[in-house]
Amino acid sequence: MAGTLALEEIAVIDNHCHAVESDQQTDTARWRRYFTESPDAVMQADDVAQTALYRRLTRRMAKFYDVPNDEAAVLAARNTHSTPALVESLFRDANIGGVVVDTGYPDPDRALAVDTFVAASRSSYRAMLRLEVTFEAMIAVYAGYHELVEALEERLRDLRAEGYCGLKCIAGYRTGLSIQRWPEGDARRAFAAARAELDATGGVRLGHKALSDTLLHIAFAAAAAQELPVQFHVGYGDPDADLRSAAPLELRAVLEDRSYRSMPIVLLHGCWPYFREGAYLAAVYGNVHLDLSYAIPFLSVGEMTSMTRAALGAAPFTKLMYSSDGARVPELHWLGALDGRRVLGRVLEELIQDGDLDRDEARSTAKLYGFDGAHSDA
Ligand SMILES: [Zn+2]
Repeated sequence: MAGTLALEEIAVIDNHCHAVESDQQTDTARWRRYFTESPDAVMQADDVAQTALYRRLTRRMAKFYDVPNDEAAVLAARNTHSTPALVESLFRDANIGGVVVDTGYPDPDRALAVDTFVAASRSSYRAMLRLEVTFEAMIAVYAGYHELVEALEERLRDLRAEGYCGLKCIAGYRTGLSIQRWPEGDARRAFAAARAELDATGGVRLGHKALSDTLLHIAFAAAAAQELPVQFHVGYGDPDADLRSAAPLELRAVLEDRSYRSMPIVLLHGCWPYFREGAYLAAVYGNVHLDLSYAIPFLSVGEMTSMTRAALGAAPFTKLMYSSDGARVPELHWLGALDGRRVLGRVLEELIQDGDLDRDEARSTAKLYGFDGAHSDA
């Protein structure tokens, strides 16, 4: 593409993504559901195909498989491959060198086994622990509040030794990013309500804010002590996330908390649609990083370019990272890497043309971003 700094030969580290499912044989209805966050049945069945992302993906796959630009032809070609063969060919084509995986979604029972994935993708693999899934499982095990707190502190004491390179927080999907410190009485009452929910329904979904916030503060203290990054879901998601309380400025209490200065905070998904706020936070807080993901949110190339422009336009380059947020199907990891490279190359070329950077500086900026893996620790 004209006016784009070429980055194809540089391997990328995908700093936030998810496992692919072991069963990849698919029909059109199932396939379409991978590419929308809407729970609406008509949106999932029909409208999803009328999006820029879906059209671009279909066109890219048709080229990859050398078949007509047609959904049925593309899926027929895809279905002739085993899951490891799909992963192998797509990861090689996109030159993906490493992945940092949120192990909390999809359910590990549905995910391709890690060793199979690593062998097929030939990528370095690092895992993150999803906090809320851990909390929900532990609330079901411990009948007493004090027992729960002690067990959680023990569980999080040495996360690197357990093979985790960071934590993932989905408070944005639950009780919101305005995470507060609560009196113990409130946390205990919320715990009792969570246990009552468990008794009544057989499960608990952590919508109890005083409890959720309190357990998160225990986790943040552990992360700060171990200097481990915490990745926060911010902004775009299914309507389970209230987009108002999942906005990045809601995190102010955590950002201002001096005891968390040694905890790298990673704001995911470019905070889309709040990408300017995300870029601002990465520009003013030493421990805040902005992660820009290029497969989910489901966006056009132009909108991803706007997000990238805002990020590189305001935040230090050292505070930005690349990801796909790919989940369940390997095409998302693949498309994210192809488009992330293209968009970053385009925006860097603009910075060169504008006199912000010279060509050497632009290439070192790409490396900081994840093209070459400088950020694999976060
Ligand atoms: Zn994710």
